[in-house]
Amino acid sequence: MSATLKPGDMIGILGSGQLGRMLAMAGARLGLRTHIYAPEPGPALDVCAQHTIAPYEDEAALAAFADSVAVVSYEFENVPAATAAFLAARRHVRPGPGALAITQDRLSEKTFLNQLGIPTARFAQVDDVAGLTAALDTLGRPAILKTRRFGYDGKGQVMIRPGQDIAEAFSALGGQACILEGLVTFAREVSVVGARSLSGDFAAFDVCENEHENHILSRTIVPARLGAQTARAAMDMAGKIAAALDYVGVITVEMFLVEEAGSETIVVNEIAPRVHNSGHWTIDGAVTSQFEQHMRAICGWALGSPRRHGAIDMRNLIGAQANDWEAMLAEPGLCLHLYGKHEAREGRKMGHFTRVLPEEEHEAQAGPLNRT
Ligand code: AMP
Repeated sequence: MSATLKPGDMIGILGSGQLGRMLAMAGARLGLRTHIYAPEPGPALDVCAQHTIAPYEDEAALAAFADSVAVVSYEFENVPAATAAFLAARRHVRPGPGALAITQDRLSEKTFLNQLGIPTARFAQVDDVAGLTAALDTLGRPAILKTRRFGYDGKGQVMIRPGQDIAEAFSALGGQACILEGLVTFAREVSVVGARSLSGDFAAFDVCENEHENHILSRTIVPARLGAQTARAAMDMAGKIAAALDYVGVITVEMFLVEEAGSETIVVNEIAPRVHNSGHWTIDGAVTSQFEQHMRAICGWALGSPRRHGAIDMRNLIGAQANDWEAMLAEPGLCLHLYGKHEAREGRKMGHFTRVLPEEEHEAQAGPLNRT
């Protein structure tokens, strides 16, 4: 199978959610077709050329899927290792199974980052209650206990405060392998969404500043409020991480911005080996969207420009917030995206909208931007 694809080729995506949907839509613009493979139907099925609904362990279905596509990618990081290995023996899997293995496990992820010289929260491996006691002695309280695997949107983690029962906290996470993290006192949460091509070029979008509600992303503004040098350093870190992973595709690095004694430092929280909610603004607000960038990279094509069209304000529409779609449509310049989900369950991402503003208006809304 050739390393480089052509328009008309079929892209295989594991996962049927909104990220798969937006990938398929971006691919269609470039003449690519998409085959979605997922255990359950989801919003991506409305816009893809072909789909397979089967478990990730179904080798016959996986083999037929691999035969039908020119490259395999995914919209979520918890692709089972055996599934990735099975597919990689048949087709290019981009980003590769190595990047998945490191980023699926918080312990291997943080160890990898520290080996690269990239700062993270202080952390310790926790396999049992005795290990948790020892880790708390080193890291102190409060600290955050997280499962090593399968955490998302704040799930699979508990804060351990002074006086709190340790055994209870450990069993609240199901007694699984965990890590304990020291608490980072951050001023803001930011992310870098960037893409690395097959030939090793790296292009990052401007740093995003993210606000969460109930651990779910609620708003992203760009540019993030941080100094130009810090922003450069954050983007360089993402490039360094992507290069060390020999990565192909869009990668997102979630970071904490720490302000101390008038200086800013970046602490990396986690790596998402995929397109990311904090990059949704790029559809309307950048020359090339994160979804197109991912498609270009996994096809072995040149990356597009990540240049921004203006100052960005992106809001997620969670649950019932999407019910106001008519009012949003009525606002000139507001770019509305609805994911076609039928039921607006609480906490469910139903859509998002992006406003692309002249830079001065953004500064008035977000407060003065601290550029150096
Ligand atoms: P995560 O699942 O690791 O992305 O964590 C979810 C959220 O919890 C982050 O977006 C932060 O707001 C918070 N958080 C996670 N780890 C830490 C930490 N070590 N120190 C402070 N806040 C954290």
